[in-house]
Order: sequence, then structure tokens, then C-alpha cells
Amino acid sequence: MNAVLLGIIVGFGITQVAIFTTTLYLHRELTHKAVTFHPFINEIFRLLTWITSGIRPRQWVAVHRKHHAHTDTAEDPHSPLVHGWKKVQLMNVFLYRKAASDEKTIANYARDLPQRRTDRLFFDHAILGLGLLFTGLVFSFGIITAGVAFAFHAVLYLGLSGSVNSVAHHFGRKSYKTNSGTNVTWLALLTAGEGFHNHHHAAPTSARFSRRWFQVDPGWWVIKTLSLIKLANIRHSDVDKLASRNLKSTNFI
Ligand SMILES: [Zn+2]
Ligand SMILES: [Zn+2]
Repeated sequence: MNAVLLGIIVGFGITQVAIFTTTLYLHRELTHKAVTFHPFINEIFRLLTWITSGIRPRQWVAVHRKHHAHTDTAEDPHSPLVHGWKKVQLMNVFLYRKAASDEKTIANYARDLPQRRTDRLFFDHAILGLGLLFTGLVFSFGIITAGVAFAFHAVLYLGLSGSVNSVAHHFGRKSYKTNSGTNVTWLALLTAGEGFHNHHHAAPTSARFSRRWFQVDPGWWVIKTLSLIKLANIRHSDVDKLASRNLKSTNFI
């Protein structure tokens, strides 16, 4: 197969691994405690976060909790209402880094996730994790495919992460008028269910983002499967029920 085409396919696969890790581990488990995975599964997620995105979980959690606490106000780290959707789409990574580098934000919103020894030694060094991924790709596929895969993954992952914060707060439909998040089906398909952002803001502690069986929420399908084999413990999964209890969407942990 053509080295560039193979690079695009491999890059897409890596992005999907990063997307599933983000929604299942960083978002649904660590941020909202909507689900608890078996410790062994969490160690795999921790490793995958490190090598596919280099994200420090406590920073991601803090920035995202701040977004829920101050949605679409000047305090929101990435509000399309404040910055315009195009800026949030294109500059999301910079908005994220600005909020993530604020020690006060981390102290206020991620107190439950202190820095561990393994974080200090390995996981807090994004360059090391991403370097391992790149080295693995070069050994597996050669330099051209590795370069294309890495670049394609970086652009796609940053683009899709930006879309959840911009597109899913600007376009799309709302099942609940109580929040500014929107539901965007094509985005849900590409982000393991994150596109059901209106549902999510209405019921942040639900491990399930979809409301109907036909709505595409692959992250939920993985959680459901893991719970059947006792590797995941689901806290809530009924969006409608939680949304009716939680009209102001302020209970996000
Ligand atoms: Zn949001
Ligand atoms: Zn959330």
C-alpha cells in the first residue's frame, strides 16, 4: 500500500484510540465520576493518554470542570459565545493551554487528582510519551508513514477536540433548553459520543450521552460492555431522569 495512504489510515486509528481514551477516562470517569473502571483498565488508559496526546489528566479535568462551572461566561476557558466559534475551533489548543497552565484553576478544580510519583517521572512529560509513539511508528512502518500518521493524528485530534467545544456549543440541536450545548450527530460518530453535548450538559454525571438506542454513542457501548464483564461500575445512565433533577446543570461531579 502507498506509504502516505497507510499513514492516514494509521493516523485515523491513533486518533480514535485518543478519542476513546479522552471520553471514557478523562471525561466520563475522572472529570464527572459517571463511571469507575477497574484499576487495570485505568492504568491502560493512563498509558494511552500519555502516548497519544500527552495530556496531563489533572489539567484536562480542571479545565473541563471550569467549563461546566462557568459555561458561556467570561470565566469559561473556551466559550464560543465569548470568543466566537471559529476562534474556539482553530485556537482551542491555545485556549486550553492558557487555562491548564493556571495553577489556581488546577488547585480549585482538580484537588482529587494530586501529582503521583509516576506522573513526575514519566506521565507529566508529554514529549516523552509522544516521542515513544513516534518511535514505535517509525519502527513499525518506516519514517514516511510514521510522519504522515503522526501529523494526521495531531491535526485530527486537535480539530475534533476543538469541534466539541465550538461546534457543539453553536450549531446542532437541543433536546434541553436549559444549557447551551448542542447535539451534532456526525460529531458524535467521530468522537465516540461526545457530539451529544446538549445531553451531556443537561446530565453531566451520566455515563451515557445518548438518550435513544439509535443515537450513536460508542463510548457508552464500551462502558456497557465493560460493565457486563465487571470491569466498569456505572453511576448513572438515564439522561432524562438526571436532567429533570438537575435543571441548572450545576451538579457536574
Ligand atoms: Zn460544553
Ligand atoms: Zn463534561
